[in-house]
Amino acid sequence: MRKPLIAGNWKMNTSLSESKELASAIAKTFSQTHECDVLLLPPYVNLESVRHHVLNTPILLGAQNLHFEDKGAFTGEISGQMLRNIGCGYVLVGHSERRQFFGDTDEWVNKKIRASLRNLLFPIVCVGETLSQRERKQTFSVISNQLHTAFSDINEKEIPQCVIAYEPVWAIGTGNTASPAEAQEVHVSIRQWFSRHYNDAFASRVRILYGGSVTAHTIADLMAEPDLDGALVGGSSLKVNEFIEIVKKTIHIKSSKGV
Ligand code: PEP
Repeated sequence: MRKPLIAGNWKMNTSLSESKELASAIAKTFSQTHECDVLLLPPYVNLESVRHHVLNTPILLGAQNLHFEDKGAFTGEISGQMLRNIGCGYVLVGHSERRQFFGDTDEWVNKKIRASLRNLLFPIVCVGETLSQRERKQTFSVISNQLHTAFSDINEKEIPQCVIAYEPVWAIGTGNTASPAEAQEVHVSIRQWFSRHYNDAFASRVRILYGGSVTAHTIADLMAEPDLDGALVGGSSLKVNEFIEIVKKTIHIKSSKGV
């Protein structure tokens, strides 16, 4: 069965001391938690300090982005090799803020997935439609196109631990969470895409997270849906008690459903 994953995307937030406080409180609370993967995605410059606080705990460490080359003349960029060296196990790829503000394309997402895999990082590949695409009933075609290019020429054996995050752009940072039924419908379509392009076994194994204004109030209903395997949490991951509540509710709902 799929183990749930709750990832906290701190984005460009937290001072060094705030990062330390958040990480140590979360590490303390979940030092013995194995029913749910808990992943922290701090800003690059705080990775080393957060790593120190989660050392010898089950808390996982990841980054919010990477460059697709391993090294070279790319001023200001960070490579997968560097992230691996600093202790990251995961990396976000194709977050909608990267697509919107920094020009990340589906082709770049493909190269970044390859760079993650080359450096033994598990990519969390973000996909999702804008509000106008949803209103024009293009949600499934948009996501299918994103997946098609992102996974172009990548075979099943290369992505055993790949994670997908369905993040409707209209739900990120807006307070408008997708309804559990809306999210479930898209998650099923993503799973079907993997079934068609890889195989049923892979499709039933791949973890698909929901992201978009998740809070401690909305998490339980979302996690009650069978194809939602966790959440990518932005704003609520900066509030320690709320994030802890989100993880605890996820564990409660998923274990009561026998997953
Ligand atoms: C995100 O950063 O991926 C996200 C979903 O943000 P928020 O929870 O703030 O909408």
